[in-house]
Amino acid sequence: QVETLKAKLLEQAQEISRLRSELGGTDAEKHRDLLAAENERLRQEMKACEGELRELQRQQQQAPCRDCPHLQENAGLQEQLSQLQREVEEARAKLVELDLEVQQKTNRLAEVELRLKDSLAERAEEEERLSRRLRDSQETIASLKSQPQQIKYIIKTVEVESAKAKQALCETQSRNQYLLEQVGMQKQVLKEMEQQLQSSQKTEAQLRAQIMMYEAELERAHGQMLEEMQAMEEEKNRAIEEAFSRAQVEMKAVHENLAGVRTNLLTLQPALRTLTHDYNSLKRQVRDFPLLLQETLRSARAEISQAIEEVHSTNRELLRKYRRELQLRKKCHNELVRLKGNIRVFGRVRPITKEDGEGPEAANAVTFDADDDAVLHLLHKGKQVSFELDKVFPPQASQEEVGATVHTVGVKWGGSHLLLTLLCLPQVFQEVQALVTSCIDGYNVCIFAYGQTGAGKTYTMEGTAANPGINQRALQLLFSEVRGKAADWDYTITVSAAEIYNEALRDLLGKEPQEKLEIKLCPDGSGQLYVPGLTEFRVQSVEDINKVFEFGHVKRVTECTNLNEHSSRSHALLIVTVRGLDRSTGLRTTGKLNLVDLAGSERVGRSGAEGSRLREAQHINKSLSALGDVIYALRSRQGHVPFRNSKLTYLLQDSLSGDSKTLMMVQVSPAEKNTSETLCSLKFAERVRSVELGPVSRKAELGSWTSQEHLEVLKILLGDSPGSTAPPGRAHTSPSPGQLSSRSASIRRKLHTSG
Ligand code: ADP
Ligand code: MG
Repeated sequence: QVETLKAKLLEQAQEISRLRSELGGTDAEKHRDLLAAENERLRQEMKACEGELRELQRQQQQAPCRDCPHLQENAGLQEQLSQLQREVEEARAKLVELDLEVQQKTNRLAEVELRLKDSLAERAEEEERLSRRLRDSQETIASLKSQPQQIKYIIKTVEVESAKAKQALCETQSRNQYLLEQVGMQKQVLKEMEQQLQSSQKTEAQLRAQIMMYEAELERAHGQMLEEMQAMEEEKNRAIEEAFSRAQVEMKAVHENLAGVRTNLLTLQPALRTLTHDYNSLKRQVRDFPLLLQETLRSARAEISQAIEEVHSTNRELLRKYRRELQLRKKCHNELVRLKGNIRVFGRVRPITKEDGEGPEAANAVTFDADDDAVLHLLHKGKQVSFELDKVFPPQASQEEVGATVHTVGVKWGGSHLLLTLLCLPQVFQEVQALVTSCIDGYNVCIFAYGQTGAGKTYTMEGTAANPGINQRALQLLFSEVRGKAADWDYTITVSAAEIYNEALRDLLGKEPQEKLEIKLCPDGSGQLYVPGLTEFRVQSVEDINKVFEFGHVKRVTECTNLNEHSSRSHALLIVTVRGLDRSTGLRTTGKLNLVDLAGSERVGRSGAEGSRLREAQHINKSLSALGDVIYALRSRQGHVPFRNSKLTYLLQDSLSGDSKTLMMVQVSPAEKNTSETLCSLKFAERVRSVELGPVSRKAELGSWTSQEHLEVLKILLGDSPGSTAPPGRAHTSPSPGQLSSRSASIRRKLHTSG
């Protein structure tokens, strides 16, 4: 039994050592080392992959395809890679855990082994003791056998002894029993240990399975990584191939360019040769240039000085001619004006207005001659009275006909922009234009509007904003003519506005409008008159003058009478002074344009005025008859002209005498109720116009013919007309329309008077 037990124990120990060697840390350690090595290898591979990846990224960054799908794919792959790395990291952590567990297990196993060793030692000791006792017992038995005579005794003793032996046996048996129990216990322990071993084997199997799983996982990760690396490798190859093909294409283009450049170079070579040739010849020329230049300069200088000399002489000649022409033109103009007469009298009939009322009072009393635009017939108290003026404007005559239209248009000519002033002149306005031209030439000019209040004086002179009158149109003309001469002449234009009210002269533009101004003789002995303290404004356009006008209007004295609500009781004067300087000759001229809106000419009794109004009317009548007298005296070329009889004529003395020109616009109303005033106005007009003229004045009479009239005169003289026997005598105050209504009759009449 002991032997079998021993054998069993030995067997157990062997098994244990086998298990130990099997289970021992070495295997797990080996496995761990293997895994670590594998890990290290994988890490190396990963590093290499990362390096490759970086290289690929660098290539991609260098490559122009920034938005290509590879980038996105790459990003995906990188993400997968990082995922895998994370997984590997997790697996590593698990591995470390497992290592720890294995370590714990190994420790426990070592403990169990130690305990087993102790119990084995104990058992060997026990066995030793038992075998010693067994030997002692056997020796005792053998000694007993060798002493047979003493058997009885011995038996006895044996008996005695046997009792003792029996006890010893019993003891031995109990001892054996105890040992058996011990063996059973040991068996139990062994069984437990076996169970423990089994469980640890199970754990080991589990661990192995886990390790296998991890290995498989690692394998899979590795495979995936390999695949990805493969894909990346392919990607890299593809990118390289693409880059290569692109580079090839670029290379091809570069080659082509090179070929082009080569051919260019080939074609340029001859050009270069010719350029070199040119350059050489130019170099030669440059070398010779200073000499040539000096030569040319010398000859050019000579030529230029000659040309300058020629131009100078031509200029002198031209200047001389120009001055002569200027003199001639002035002479001609003066002669023309003189022939026409310095004083022109026009009549204008205003239309019947609402203010004239209705019924027979407002009936039209004025008719015109269809053939003669200078004749007008007035029906007064049942009698027709005819008047002849220089020109008569019917009610339908527009402001343009009386004035003129000036259009300024911009035109493109030869690349430059020109301003053309187009003057639309009705035949009549030629008079106004002639006056403006004279003024610019340095003559004094007057334009008067005469007539009863409400006859249209202000309308004719000033007009309305939409339909301006003579003032505006004459000034427009003045400025446009001045602009036209701006190349040779410098003009300074100033305006003054004055009013004569009750024989007192007042400055309409001054700071003290109530202040009475005096007219004085120039102290320089030139005989010129001037008004000290009269404000003058320098103007550059019609707009400037209009502003001055508006300013003056505010101050003008206007009062209501029962004839016209806004009847003007004063003479209004706008004095435009034009000072010119001919830049080429240094000639200076000064001309004055006086635009006068006279006060109403109606008689006192008619207007029903009293007191101060009566005084006003008396002053007005006095000054108007003085004006009539002056004009009459001038036109009949009397030695004495009564300028000093009124402030008006005195102020305008230098603009009425000498070479001055005057236009009188006589305004009349056509209404039946105004016929006596109309008659007075027309008589005044005829008085200043139809003067019995001497031989010189006769020329003026002839001069008032129009070119059309001259033609007709020629026809008459040549006996072309049936009315060649003209009736003698002038019947201009009451010519019978039946007898003398035709144009030729009028001309014949003129012919007769002019001889
Ligand atoms: P005056 O200045 O002689 O007192 P206005 O010029 O004030 O007279 O004219 C009196 C009225 O007659 C104004 O309403 C004016 O518009 C009108 N009138 C005068 N002449 C004409 C005309 N030719 N055409 C139209 N209306 C006119
Ligand atoms: Mg008026």
